[in-house]
Amino acid sequence: MTAFVLPVPPTPSVAVSGSTERFAVRRIFCVGRNYAAHAREFGNDERDPPFFFTKPADAVVDSGVTIPYPPLTANLHHEIELVAAIGRPGFRIPRERALDHVWGYGVGIDLTRRDLQDEAKKAARPWDWSKAFDRSAPCGPLVPAQKSGHPQKGRIWLAVDGKVRQDADLAELIWPIADIVSICSEAMGLEAGDLIFTGTPAGVGAVKPGETMTGGVGGIGTIEVTFGQPQL
Ligand code: MN
Repeated sequence: MTAFVLPVPPTPSVAVSGSTERFAVRRIFCVGRNYAAHAREFGNDERDPPFFFTKPADAVVDSGVTIPYPPLTANLHHEIELVAAIGRPGFRIPRERALDHVWGYGVGIDLTRRDLQDEAKKAARPWDWSKAFDRSAPCGPLVPAQKSGHPQKGRIWLAVDGKVRQDADLAELIWPIADIVSICSEAMGLEAGDLIFTGTPAGVGAVKPGETMTGGVGGIGTIEVTFGQPQL
């Protein structure tokens, strides 16, 4: 047995719908843009191939919690996303086989410090500080694909304090789940425990301390997260 000089960090995990067992998270991949209308609101050609960025595994946060408003931002944005949870390893997975590697699905929010992202884009710097901060990846309970099937359509929405901001359909995904899994696996071997945030539809916007985000994906589940005051 390996001995460690400090306690081994806890394994990040997300809840599983209808179960006391949890899904251990290995890595978090996110698709940069994957809905035509959201790509257009940022002035991009929707036919561009997808690109990815990452968040640390321990950025996951359960639904139902209050989290401190993050530091270094005055423009924190919500991005509601369908999350695919990988259950089987695979490298260069063919598109026709890709869904066999998905264990289940959940509803996530890709929190984004938009002001830092705008600065990073201008300076051609990495996105990490805008995307990969503490508690930046709230994710609701996963539903096994055996129960939900592999969604190809369904409402995806997010409201802030009850006001609907994002409201679209999974059918509008530029690159469906199978393509995303297959393309991601060309860059590196996917493993059980990897989460893929599949991109957000139009309507992203700012949230403030004290506000509550609620969201969902039809046939998959819901998520609710409240912002407390900034960390002191
Ligand atoms: Mn996103």
